[in-house]
Amino acid sequence: MTMTITHLGTGSRGNSTLLETPHAKVLIDQGFSGTQLAKRLARLELSPDDIDCVFITHHHGDHGGGAKVVQTKWNIPVLANERTALELDLVPELTTYFESLDLVRVGQDLAVLPVPVPHAGSENVAFVASHEGERAAIITDLGSWTDELVTHVRGCEHISIEANYDHNKLMFGPYPYSLKDRISGRGGHLSNEQTGRFLAEVCTEATRSITLTHLSEKNNRPHLAESTVLYYIDEVFSGDLRISAQNGPDFSHYIGQDKASSKQEKASAK
Ligand SMILES: [Zn+2]
Ligand SMILES: [Zn+2]
Repeated sequence: MTMTITHLGTGSRGNSTLLETPHAKVLIDQGFSGTQLAKRLARLELSPDDIDCVFITHHHGDHGGGAKVVQTKWNIPVLANERTALELDLVPELTTYFESLDLVRVGQDLAVLPVPVPHAGSENVAFVASHEGERAAIITDLGSWTDELVTHVRGCEHISIEANYDHNKLMFGPYPYSLKDRISGRGGHLSNEQTGRFLAEVCTEATRSITLTHLSEKNNRPHLAESTVLYYIDEVFSGDLRISAQNGPDFSHYIGQDKASSKQEKASAK
């Protein structure tokens, strides 16, 4: 049995990730308009009606801005912590509140664990999804990390994590000082180097795929993110490393027993 991880798009203009098991289809974040979401799902031959529920990491528009529309337009349940739900003004009857570190079960073969991460002005969480003993971590928008996060992510088969900015590009770039400070601070975003160091702590032999997400269009470049991260994980990781762009879906990662390569080709051909 397989769990599929597909980023419908990541970046400051919207984020959403599809997790699929034989019995569940969930989205992590919904930062797109209803039309954009439907369009991106259609490329995978899916529609919003196929989605069982949507988990939201935090209330920033690029992650939660499209949460309410899936409730009002398609009656899809949304799961969030209380602060995030309040900030997004979610429809109470279609909202389930979770607490950090309380495992949420979806259908008969998927469980999702919210783990708190530091990100200023929000109560952000990362998610570790498990399916038949294999785990995928989806981590975004954090300025630093905790031992608790390391504990939960270490040894995951798949890890998606932001590599937001290249340190030099940010510091010598056009942003005002206050914004540079905010992005690079403890509650901001991870630089390529920080992402590399985090991955070096959590990758084990079990880790087979990594996706770098949420690259800044101004302060990063895919080749910089890739080469910097690889520098840190070269010794510990020999799997598949990819970069998710703003306009997806471009590819899927599969974890589990029957990683059908034909399916992989099908997704990347679209
Ligand atoms: Zn974001
Ligand atoms: Zn954010």
